[in-house]
Amino acid sequence: MRSWPTVAIPDVDPKYTLPKLTLKDTLSGTKKALPTKNLYRMYVCGITPYDATHLGHAATYLTFDLINRYLRATGAEVRYVQNITDIDDPLLERAKRDGIDWEDLAHSQIELFRSDMVNLHILPPESYIGAVEAIPLVTEAIEMLKEVHTIYSVDDDLYFSVRSDAEFGTRSHYSQVEMQEIFSQRGGDPDRVGKKDVLDCLVWLAARPGEPSWPSPFGAGRPGWHIECSAIALAYLKPEPADDYAIDIQGGGSDLIFPHHEMGASQVAMMTGKPYAQTYVHAGMVGLDGEKMSKSKGNLVFVSKLVAAGVDPMVIRLALLSAAYGRDRMWTDAVLAEATARMARLQSALSRNEVAPTKECIALIIASLADNLDSPRAIKAIDSWIEQTESGLTGGSSGELSRAIDTFLGIAI
Ligand code: ZN
Repeated sequence: MRSWPTVAIPDVDPKYTLPKLTLKDTLSGTKKALPTKNLYRMYVCGITPYDATHLGHAATYLTFDLINRYLRATGAEVRYVQNITDIDDPLLERAKRDGIDWEDLAHSQIELFRSDMVNLHILPPESYIGAVEAIPLVTEAIEMLKEVHTIYSVDDDLYFSVRSDAEFGTRSHYSQVEMQEIFSQRGGDPDRVGKKDVLDCLVWLAARPGEPSWPSPFGAGRPGWHIECSAIALAYLKPEPADDYAIDIQGGGSDLIFPHHEMGASQVAMMTGKPYAQTYVHAGMVGLDGEKMSKSKGNLVFVSKLVAAGVDPMVIRLALLSAAYGRDRMWTDAVLAEATARMARLQSALSRNEVAPTKECIALIIASLADNLDSPRAIKAIDSWIEQTESGLTGGSSGELSRAIDTFLGIAI
């Protein structure tokens, strides 16, 4: 799948030292410093191409964009892979509901997603891989899981046996009852007759009448969702044999903690014999005016619609960065208005001939981001600098500050 065009990142002045990046790890529940490395492997779960790109998506990809930018600023290479679930039940259901071809729906939504990512200055993944193009990888992954006796069939469908992994369920911290509840809410089939465990997940769905299918060694069918990501991550991130973990960062929205990331981590552990990720990072959900934003409520706010209405994508980015990434937050008109006003003041301050000292502000932006991507604190540092400039302090370099804001926060002014 074609990724989207990259965005130039200004270099960091070597006079700034970059602390190690610490991130809140969902598995351990604590903040962990990423080890210093030359190459980081990051996998972030992509969208199913319908309803793209709402602000929840934008906030998630923005979170991993901050990680990507910070690690690159340290001089490291970031091998970043993202998937796109371009075949799955929800896509087929939406196409049927709207009376359109599922491939046309997927293509149009993928295009929209790409242009939204470009508008928001989100660095593209090195590999952007669709589920359909990954089918050979999925069948290979299923073969690997078969070799370690973790796959069984129910009729012509194939399932992953979660109990073959002694650590199943330990990564996401839900009780058995909660896991069952969430599993059925998020596409699972706990009641399927013939399964060994209610939580076992489908890895290959045999062809159904009237639905698309592709040939495989297990017969015609299509991949399950969880195995799609496990297969793509392993194939494109190619774990280093010497590493203790298959990859460095597994990311996505917090609605993926269970079952998606638990299943993926379990499958990868069974395939490779090592834990999946060094750190599991999850972005919180974005609600609207006090309510959860969801397809069923019909209250999704789309990046493309805001942009079409004249909102500067950099203001959307600034607005999303004003809240901590890991917490659920609300999108309101006031959030957008505050970001609009902040951007105007920042632009005005940066355009002055004389500006307040910038070195301390830049160091604070860096230190805040290094501390679990504390973007609200970074923005506070910028606000203080604006006030100092407005009050007539001098001695700084507006060019240096605007470059640093671009490098680390991805906001081009
Ligand atoms: Zn995924």
